[in-house]
Amino acid sequence: MSDHDPTTPLVEVRGLRKAFSGTDVLRGVDLSAGEGTATVLLGPSGSGKTTVLRSLNVLETPDAGRVRIADAEVDFDAPARDRGARRREVAALRSRSGMVFQSHHLFPHKTVLGNLLEGPVQVQGRSVDEATADARRLLEQVGLGGREDAYPAQLSGGQQQRVGIARALALQPQVVLLDEPTSALDPELVSEVLAVIRDLAATGWTMLIVTHEVRFARDVADQVLFLDEGVIAERGGAEVLTDPQHERTKQFLRRVL
Ligand code: ADP
Repeated sequence: MSDHDPTTPLVEVRGLRKAFSGTDVLRGVDLSAGEGTATVLLGPSGSGKTTVLRSLNVLETPDAGRVRIADAEVDFDAPARDRGARRREVAALRSRSGMVFQSHHLFPHKTVLGNLLEGPVQVQGRSVDEATADARRLLEQVGLGGREDAYPAQLSGGQQQRVGIARALALQPQVVLLDEPTSALDPELVSEVLAVIRDLAATGWTMLIVTHEVRFARDVADQVLFLDEGVIAERGGAEVLTDPQHERTKQFLRRVL
């Protein structure tokens, strides 16, 4: 998926800090993720998980720290040469990731295919033919082959969210950021969406996933990060979920399992 050096992590975050109205929400977050790995961010509500993901995509501007995805990096500690230079750095970083939100935010007046073409064609300037071929392939991957002419309202919530995932992938990001991708779904629709995410992780997409679905996390995670009050309190492999060391992680897992 890239010519990135496999010995260095694809994603690196150092010293990430963010406050909202004087309240520290991220208090120095460090993380790395290797290419082709799935990282699950867990933690109590309000611990800063969404803010970490949004900072990677620069939907929030960190107050301090460095964020690098592949060859694009922004050092929020260092003043940019000028505003134009910072804007270009941010645009480059942003283009390395694709975000999947709790609610899919599909364009209701566009077909499924139209939704998938918008970013690649209008924003990235790719040819319609090439973007269409890619979009059809992605729709197959998320189990929606043949539904390209449907409108979002004609699809179930789970199907809509799978279109949302395909739309993020259509931007050919290096990393997919999924922010509680199933939390807005009716319970009976959750498993089909989790299955698609699991398949995509198995095919080598690099993913950072915020989820409360601990069983899913156990299946999919190469790395688990437990956030508590704006810092990573515990990190490790999937064993963090079955054999947590930190008291706050134990409490959290007892509550959600
Ligand atoms: P989590 O994803 O772990 O639930 P968030 O990153 O969404 O946590 O939020 C962490 C804290 O930051 C919460 O207290 C939340 O209310 C606050 N917060 C998040 N985004 C904003 C914002 N745009 N403005 C003000 N406060 C915010």
